[in-house]
Amino acid sequence: MRLFNFSPGPAMLPESVLQEAQADLLDWKGRGLSIMEMSHRGEDFLGVARKADADLRKLMGIPDHYKILFLQGGATGQNAAVPLNLIGEKTTADYIHTGHWSSRSISEAEKYCTVNIAASGESSGFWHVPAQSEWRLSADPAYVHICANETISGVEYQFTPDTGDIPLVADMSSNILSRPVDVSRFGVIYAGAQKNIGPTGVTVVIVREDLLGKVKKACPSVIDYTLEEKFEWMYNTPPTFPVYVSGLVFTWLLEQGGVEAIEKTNIAKAEKLYAEIDRTDFYTNKVRKEDRSRMNATFFLPNEELDDRFAEEAKAYGLLNLKGHKIAGGIRASIYNAMPMAGVDKLIEFMRLFEKKYG
Ligand SMILES: *Cc1c(COP(=O)(O)O)cnc(C)c1O
Repeated sequence: MRLFNFSPGPAMLPESVLQEAQADLLDWKGRGLSIMEMSHRGEDFLGVARKADADLRKLMGIPDHYKILFLQGGATGQNAAVPLNLIGEKTTADYIHTGHWSSRSISEAEKYCTVNIAASGESSGFWHVPAQSEWRLSADPAYVHICANETISGVEYQFTPDTGDIPLVADMSSNILSRPVDVSRFGVIYAGAQKNIGPTGVTVVIVREDLLGKVKKACPSVIDYTLEEKFEWMYNTPPTFPVYVSGLVFTWLLEQGGVEAIEKTNIAKAEKLYAEIDRTDFYTNKVRKEDRSRMNATFFLPNEELDDRFAEEAKAYGLLNLKGHKIAGGIRASIYNAMPMAGVDKLIEFMRLFEKKYG
C-alpha cells in the first residue's frame, strides 16, 4: 500500500508515473528491452530526450535562446559549475545568503572566485528573504546567485529579483515547476530532479545561450555547459532512466493543466497547512509570513521530545518522513507537486489528534 510521503527528497512521485514506468520496465513499447538497457544514441532514447526537452519548454515557457541540459552531479555539482562556466574574465560573483543551501553554494563558489555576500537572512536567524532594496551588489559581479527555496528551513522567494544586465542564477531544486516563472529574467536555472521533477540522478540546467563560451579551462567536461550544449548533453553517457521518468512527470504535469494549474493546488495545500499551524500555539512556524515556502512547511512543537514523538506517531498513521532536517530539528512537511490534497488533509487530521492527546 502506498502511504503519503512527506520526504524532502528523493520525494514522492505521481502514482500514475510509477505505474507507467513499471509497465514499461521489462519491455519498452514492444522493443523487447528496457529503456535503461538502450543506447542513449539510438532513435528510441533520442525521441524520449527530445520529448522531455519539448515538454519542459512548454511547461516553463522556456524561450528558444535558452538551452536545456540534463546533467549529473546534482545541485551540488552545479554549485561548482556556475562559477566555472560564468565567471569568465571577471573575479567576483554576488550571492544572497538565505540559509543552508545558499551557504553550500557560497562555499563551493569560493573555490573558484571571490564571493560577495550581497545580502543575508542572518538577522532573523535565516527565517526570511532579504528584500531587494537591502541588497548591496559589488561593482562588477559576473552574476547574482539566489536559492529560490531553502528546502530545510522552508523559506521561499515570492518575487523574482531584478538584477538588470547582471545574469541572475537560481538554484530551484525544490520549487521548480511548482509555480510559473519568467525564465527570461534568469541567466541560469538549475535543479536536482529528486524534489519536484523526477528520480534522483539527473540535474536540469537551463542556460541562456549568450552565457556559453566563457568556461574556465579547468572546468570538468561533465559540467561544462558549452561542451555539453555542443554535444546535446551527451558528451558522456547521460542518466537515461532518470531522464525518461522525468519525461513521464512532465507529461503528467501537462495533463494536470501545467504549472499554472498545479500552482493553484500548491497554494491551496500550503494555505490549508499553514492555517492549521497558525490555528494553535501548539505548532509554531518561524518563517516570516510573506516568505513561507509552499513546498516545505516547517514547524516546531513545544519541545524536542514531542517533535520526535510527532514524527513517530505520524508514521504509524501512514504519514512518512515528517522529521525535520537534523540541523534544523522540528517537523518538515514537504508538499511538492506530487503530494495530493488528500495527503495534506490527512496530515491536518493527524495534527489535531496529536494536539488533543499531548497539548
Ligand atoms: C536538495 C537540494 C540541494 C542538493 O541537491 P543534490 O542533488 O543533493 O546535490 C541543493 N539545493 C537545494 C535548494 C536543494 O533542495
